[in-house]
Amino acid sequence: MKTPCSVIRDLLPLYQDGVCSPESRQLVEEHLEECETCRAEWERMSAPIPTAHPQVEERTVAQAASSAWKRGRQRAFRKGFVIAAVLAAVTCLCMAILFFSQEPPFEFYGVLSDPTFHPNTGSVSFQLSVDDGYPVSIVVDEDTKVFSPFDAYPGQALKDGSISTPLRVFVQLDQAPVILYEEEEETTAYHAKLVELTAYQTSDTLPLSDGTQVEVWQGTMESLYALPQGPVLLEVHDPVGPGQDEQLLQLPQEVQDRILDYYTQFPLAYDLQSELNRAYQLYLQWTSPHLFPAQVVRQETTLSACAPNVLYFATTVDRYSEMGDLDQETSCTAFYKDSGEPVDLQTLFTCTPKTLIQSLLDHSDLVLPEQQPELVEAFRLDYLTFHPDRLLVTYPVGTLPSQEVVTGFYFPYDDAILEYMPAWAVPYAP
Ligand SMILES: [Zn+2]
Repeated sequence: MKTPCSVIRDLLPLYQDGVCSPESRQLVEEHLEECETCRAEWERMSAPIPTAHPQVEERTVAQAASSAWKRGRQRAFRKGFVIAAVLAAVTCLCMAILFFSQEPPFEFYGVLSDPTFHPNTGSVSFQLSVDDGYPVSIVVDEDTKVFSPFDAYPGQALKDGSISTPLRVFVQLDQAPVILYEEEEETTAYHAKLVELTAYQTSDTLPLSDGTQVEVWQGTMESLYALPQGPVLLEVHDPVGPGQDEQLLQLPQEVQDRILDYYTQFPLAYDLQSELNRAYQLYLQWTSPHLFPAQVVRQETTLSACAPNVLYFATTVDRYSEMGDLDQETSCTAFYKDSGEPVDLQTLFTCTPKTLIQSLLDHSDLVLPEQQPELVEAFRLDYLTFHPDRLLVTYPVGTLPSQEVVTGFYFPYDDAILEYMPAWAVPYAP
């Protein structure tokens, strides 16, 4: 939905070969579901290539392989078994030490740095600092598939070793190590089958409350904030939406433009510095031996309802991490359909916010009478979200006494609301 087609086209060959990161695979699959042109390209790519006599060829190759194998098998068996067993034991031990005995495929996320060009082989080696693990040398050569969504960091530059900016990557490595010779020094390295660039380090930094400077990394649709040589604390996605909704497309072009312009200027519905401080506090309390899970912040604006002369949008901020703990805040913006100007939320109601919420609570059996005073006291109009069939009131965490999660209530558009709302502002029934 939000990934550019050009990025998807670059990923398709890797996707076809089954060599891309789980994230990329998901991006491609989501995009193919929604984008007809890329789907056509994918179908063209994945159509079988006709061969002259496939059955004959297959049989001949299979027979040849099978008879060669039988001939060599008995002779090689004893000797081969012993060598294989020793090699396997040594390799396993090395792998275990290096990578906590990870099962194949050999896949890692990490930071790539320090390119070294090897003139004798034409390959380039890098240091890969594996997230949650140890540094390892990897070799990139002409056989390596490189995927980069960044114009400034093309795949070929990685193969040339001409990128000195640290890069965040997903890699797939060959299991068998290779030995690199560099000025009579031997290093064990692993050949990279695939390198997928996910983010590059910018020259920006942001200070934490204790003076620590956080590194800023740029991904395709997100910014990463990481401790120096440490984990990503915070992953902030570029704000999304509003999309080209049918209800919006029906309005005159200049009205549409005015509404979309508003959102290009729209301030973030959260404060970056406090999000960063919050993630850092969680990191300081993190005692598990596992890698700290980056805290994710995502903001999305969608059209939520339509009224005779108003379009209602809802902006949602989601906070979560791999550990779950989702927290969601929703706020509302409304626009006049005839001008595209934002609506002062107070003009949607002929009463004060307190009268409105009291009326809603009085007509509802959702809330106990003793809970009502704090809900009335904390209420603000921008806690409202307008849906076609109901009005949602959400109290963000921290706005009610002893509140641990977002608290929300739905109200139908009945007399409790309609008494105070002009007809031009009441959302259409679905
Ligand atoms: Zn596409």
